[in-house]
Amino acid sequence: MDEKAESQTFVKTLKELYHFYKQNLLKENKKKFFVLNGAMAASSILCGICMPLTSKWSINALTTAIGKGALGITFPLAAATERVIRSIDGFMDTYIDTAWDSFTFSTERPLALKKTRQAANIPEAAQKKPSVELSQSANQSATYATRLLTRTSNLAFQIPYAVSSAVLATVLHPGIGVTALGTCIANGILTYRNAQSNKKSNEEFRQINKKYAARQVDVVEHYQRVKNLGRETPENEELTRLSLEAQAVLDKRNKRFRLNRAIQLGLTTLSNIGIGIWAGAEAINSGDIGTAMALMSAASGMMFSAGRISNIWGNMKETLDSWRNTEKDLQYDKSHDLTYGDITPSKVQGKIEIKNVSYTYPAEPPKPALTDINLSLGNGVTVITGPSGSGKSTLLKLLQHTREGDGNITLDGVPLTQLPKGFLEQQIAIVNQRPDFFSHRTLKENLMSVSSLANTHSIKKALHKAALDGEISSEEYENKKMNELSGGQQQRENIAESFLQNKPIIIYDEPTANLDENNKRRIWHNLQRAGKDKTVIVVTHDVREIESADRIIYLEGGAIIQDGTPENLKQQNGPVLDLFKASQKPLKINSQVIQWEEKQKLLQGLKSHKKRLIRKRLNEVLSGQKGNS
Ligand code: ADP
Ligand code: MG
Repeated sequence: MDEKAESQTFVKTLKELYHFYKQNLLKENKKKFFVLNGAMAASSILCGICMPLTSKWSINALTTAIGKGALGITFPLAAATERVIRSIDGFMDTYIDTAWDSFTFSTERPLALKKTRQAANIPEAAQKKPSVELSQSANQSATYATRLLTRTSNLAFQIPYAVSSAVLATVLHPGIGVTALGTCIANGILTYRNAQSNKKSNEEFRQINKKYAARQVDVVEHYQRVKNLGRETPENEELTRLSLEAQAVLDKRNKRFRLNRAIQLGLTTLSNIGIGIWAGAEAINSGDIGTAMALMSAASGMMFSAGRISNIWGNMKETLDSWRNTEKDLQYDKSHDLTYGDITPSKVQGKIEIKNVSYTYPAEPPKPALTDINLSLGNGVTVITGPSGSGKSTLLKLLQHTREGDGNITLDGVPLTQLPKGFLEQQIAIVNQRPDFFSHRTLKENLMSVSSLANTHSIKKALHKAALDGEISSEEYENKKMNELSGGQQQRENIAESFLQNKPIIIYDEPTANLDENNKRRIWHNLQRAGKDKTVIVVTHDVREIESADRIIYLEGGAIIQDGTPENLKQQNGPVLDLFKASQKPLKINSQVIQWEEKQKLLQGLKSHKKRLIRKRLNEVLSGQKGNS
């Protein structure tokens, strides 16, 4: 199955999932919300209206003066409001959370989604995109934003309610009011401490998880190596150990959370019972059942609300932490995945402009890899060379926009950040030092998978250009799995892919370093031909390749030290000239040794590289020189 079909299936699955959510969960919850919460609110209002009838104070409310009478009116209102608030609270929890889950898979753009995306700092253009097209970190970030929004609006309901209940309870009975208030404060302190410990556990979990993920990627990417070294069992054990360690941190956190909740609930229940007995005694003493009920309701309402507030607040604290960490961890991923514009060059020339570009790896400590790079690249073969660690691969990553640095890179004048998602990938054929392929598919299947336009004829041509055709019979081409080929053959399969794709930009990161001379030369020759109407960028240390490139860029310590044509750089003292000199065996003709400078002088004006011609010409010049001296 090709990439397009695969992604279509993926999107289809997500859509189905969304419809499932919409049809079932959301609908069900809507009904539940209206039936349950509606009934609750109605009965509460009824209760609130009926209750004053049992209260001595409120019966007299209309006839007695303000003071106590006002309380009689306040109480039913408070009781009714409480139910309404609890209903809204339920709404916040069930409806919005469920709705969000559905929206995550949505291809629609409801207001709620837009709002949360704004809150999550997702760039404006990307706010309109369906969630499936956003990066995981963006969705994560938006989810945290939603949670924060939900929690904040919940607080907006809970705080006034808690305060008014507290005032009511304290006015009706200072002793009971203060007891309830004390319980709230104790609960608040417990929540705060819990949130602090959770923060620690979450960080611990995150660190272990990061280790786990990095190791897993390593194993998956280098599975063959793991197998070769016979390390399957120890790698597996280490992964299991890490995941158990992470689970242990979570278990510990959850256990603490449950204990904390149990203490809070226990405390609240005890206070409620105590206050109930107290209020009951007061009611018997005064004969006023209504007031006693009002007291209890206000006190328990206050504790309920305060408990809710401290939980919401603890939750917000944790959510905020997670949000910050997500943003920090996946900042690169976010900036990369969220780019979304409407600029689509109609036909790509492959002109790349790099302006004031710097890049620092977000490692610990941060690792500057490139500083202030300025380059303009177009059709032709550009070689990038320089010592190991000088930033060559980093520069290629920036060009592919798999990493984003400071400064600006444009393709045909359009900043990479504004290209539609997936556009750049369609323009660049890339071959890395380490070949990349589907190990368990055949050579043919691998080649067919790179382009929907690939056919037997174009594949044959590409295999020829990659110097792989001679070694592979058509039977092997049909049946040999990639993991049955040699390293050099796998490398050339990747090179064949780059020719097959026929994209305007070709990028090689030292893929021919380990090939034999003949194959190397043939591939190089074909790359030079491709360079006639494509932008070809090659990282290499091969002096013959460097010498025959259209342009040489020499990097060192993350900066461009030299930049020019081979002819120019041969005239300048510098690392490139040193490279040429070092590689040059002194030429011996007629037992006379000709050194670099002299040879260059002799070669001047000679365009062809054909050895025979050079020797002939050299001989002529030499014999002339001999005659002169
Ligand atoms: P080159 O390809 O020229 O050998 P790179 O571009 O791979 O060099 O690396 C440039 C510098 O950045 C090196 O010092 C390297 O150690 C560092 N580097 C490369 N990749 C990472 C990474 N993922 N995290 C941190 N530092 C990195
Ligand atoms: Mg490199």
